[in-house]
Amino acid sequence: VSSGDEKQLMGQEADGSQAEPASRSVGADVSLEDLVSLCKRRGFIYQGSEIYGGLAGTWDYGPLGSQLKRNIINEWLKFFVDGWDDMYQIDAAILMNKKVWEASGHASGFNDPMVECNNCHARLRQDHIENNKCPVCGKENEFSEPRQFNMMFKTNVGPVEDENSVSYLRPETAQGMFTNYKNVIDNFYPDLPFGLAQVGKAFRNEISPRDFVFRAREFEQMEVEYFVEPNKWEDSFEHWRKDVHAFLEKLGIDKEKVHELEVPDEDRAHYSKRTIDFEFDFPHGKAELLGLAYRTNFDLTNIQNATGKSMEYRPKDGSTPFVPHVIEPSFGVERLLMAVLTSAYSVDEQNGEQRTYLKLPLNMAPVKVAVFPLLKNKPELTEKAKEVYKMLKEEFNFVMWDDNGNIGKRYRRQDEIGTPYTVTIDFQSLEDNTVTVRSRDTTEQQRVEVQNLSGSIRS
Ligand code: ATP
Repeated sequence: VSSGDEKQLMGQEADGSQAEPASRSVGADVSLEDLVSLCKRRGFIYQGSEIYGGLAGTWDYGPLGSQLKRNIINEWLKFFVDGWDDMYQIDAAILMNKKVWEASGHASGFNDPMVECNNCHARLRQDHIENNKCPVCGKENEFSEPRQFNMMFKTNVGPVEDENSVSYLRPETAQGMFTNYKNVIDNFYPDLPFGLAQVGKAFRNEISPRDFVFRAREFEQMEVEYFVEPNKWEDSFEHWRKDVHAFLEKLGIDKEKVHELEVPDEDRAHYSKRTIDFEFDFPHGKAELLGLAYRTNFDLTNIQNATGKSMEYRPKDGSTPFVPHVIEPSFGVERLLMAVLTSAYSVDEQNGEQRTYLKLPLNMAPVKVAVFPLLKNKPELTEKAKEVYKMLKEEFNFVMWDDNGNIGKRYRRQDEIGTPYTVTIDFQSLEDNTVTVRSRDTTEQQRVEVQNLSGSIRS
């Protein structure tokens, strides 16, 4: 990849004029360049609209990237929705009445103060500037006055373009839960505490999209609004804090690289009484992976004030109604994906040659097993291999067929995409119905009888 292409791959503007440089790897094992390059080379992630020169801050997920995202989302749903008795999943529209964003404070307050470097004219987020030095040209103390920049994408709903038809693409999924809180209460009348959960796209017109999919303009969130009694928020917060760690472990995320940052009073959103940012040692440095916030009853109270409709919860024991308080764990799918890949990225030496492989756990691996006929042009081998492929596909769904190039090359390809097992069908297979199973991590090979193959892989 040429250096110009690389810049675009990391999410910056094509001409570099409004972009901050992608950070270099800081004390991490894999560089951002290596990660980007593997993702493109192996069909995980492509630059959005690449064939037309790209669109900064957007990304397209290829066959393996889509599958990895799906695995992360499925694991989240399993862990935080299916496993709970008091969780209700919803799927709200991305376009919402603009009053939602006026009441939530996004329309006026969803701004990041931005400055322009007077020397190179790069536009930068003020809170991203260290030592008063421009990260693009290096010039010091040459910044314009900070300006506000609303990060919501504005659009018009319907054929008439005027102020009344203005709407926004949602910048977070959270408001979809708050606006449906009353519907769910009326339909299901759950006990407190209970949660609303949602997975979906969010859009922010980030000033400087960068560091690959870490800061994009279109991304996906997985959020829960967990409604609790006002005096019980602390227990619930602690429960969630522990669950977040347990969930990250399920994804194979390296716990040594995860750090809790107790956000100090002055940096917290005004409505939050406590926030922990879970940070991760990304290839570009330590940065926010997800957030856990106690949002008080700020959002429901705002809705109540704006709509005149009561958001109070009526306790079943007849005691005084109240507006519940909220704990909000907020996960970004793309940042989790980057953390999963960073944790899995491994390099070792095999027979004097350097090998790159993704040490993904089985639940994350986009392909669970790959099947190879030893030779492509021997019909008896391919026929037998097809039988094995079909059998494994029924069991594992995500099975890849590869008969291209020599076996060593095929192993390397599968190692790089994190396939835990490969199965080779050779001439001995035709005689004794055994195949060779190779493990990605140890590269050890074992002969296994076809009828024991699925069980052997599972165990
Ligand atoms: P940052 O300070 O990095 O901009 P934030 O504090 O604004 O993040 P939140 O509003 O708390 O982020 O959003 C919740 C989660 O959504 C984040 O922890 C992150 O995982 C994800 N997220 C937010 N913005 C982006 C983005 N531009 N690209 C990818 N993921 C994002």
